[in-house]
Amino acid sequence: MKVARFSHGDSISFGIIDEEEHELVVLKADPLFAGFDPTGERVPLIEAKLLAPVIPRSKVIGIGRNYREHAAELGNETPTEPLLFLKPNTSVIGPGDAIVLPPQSERVEFEGELAVIIGSIARNVREEDAADVIFGYTVSNDVTARDLQRSDPQWTRAKGFDTFCPLGPIVDTEVDLEHGTIETSVNGELKQQGRLADMVHPIPKLVAYASAVFTLLPGDVILTGTPAGVGPLASGDTVEVRIEGLGTLSNPVR
Ligand code: MG
Repeated sequence: MKVARFSHGDSISFGIIDEEEHELVVLKADPLFAGFDPTGERVPLIEAKLLAPVIPRSKVIGIGRNYREHAAELGNETPTEPLLFLKPNTSVIGPGDAIVLPPQSERVEFEGELAVIIGSIARNVREEDAADVIFGYTVSNDVTARDLQRSDPQWTRAKGFDTFCPLGPIVDTEVDLEHGTIETSVNGELKQQGRLADMVHPIPKLVAYASAVFTLLPGDVILTGTPAGVGPLASGDTVEVRIEGLGTLSNPVR
C-alpha cells in the first residue's frame, strides 16, 4: 500500500493512493496509530498537496558511512558497527518544501537516502524480527552542512538545521527493495546512483542495533546512509532523490 499525508482545502489527512483512479482514499486518522480505516471520501491526487508522510514523534536516526564508496570519497573508513546520529524532528520537511541554507555554513550538501518508518514500539529487536516493527519506506535527503560536520567534534549542528530532513513523497508499506536503486540529481543532472543492496549494514541490522540503544517509537525514522556522489547545493537549485517504487522527492533550495 502507498500511503500519503496531504492537505486538501483546509484539512490535513492521511490517504491510500489508488494509482488506477489517481485518487486518494481518505483515512479517518493516522494509519500508524489507527489502522487503515477509510472515511468513504476520495480526493483526486491532482487536488492534494502531499506533505511529509510521517512526523517523527521522537527521533530521526541517521546512519553514517553505510556505503563503502561514500565513506571513501570523504576520506573515511567504513565503520565495523553502524554509526548512529540523531536529527531533530524539527528538521523534517515535505516534498516541494524549500531546503533553507543556514548562514552558519558555506557548504551544504545533499545525501539521497532510503528512509525506514518504524511502525510499533521496539526495544532490543532481533534482526530476524526487524520486519515486524517496520511500517514502511520512503525517500529522504540527509542534508548536511559539510563544513560544520568537519569543524565540530560531533554532528548535531551539521545535520540538525531546520529543513535538513526532507521526507516523501509517500510511504510504501510493501515495496520490494532488494534490487532497488537510489538516484540523486541536482537541476536534472545525475549526481548519485547507488544500489540499496550495497549498504554495509543492512536494514535488519540497523533496526536491531538502534533498538538496543533506545526504544523506537511508531513514526520514528531511520535514514539508512547515502551512496557515493554527494555534493553541494546552492540557492535556486532543485534537488531530486528517486527510489524506484517509492517515487521522487523533490525540493527547491534557497
Ligand atoms: Mg547521511
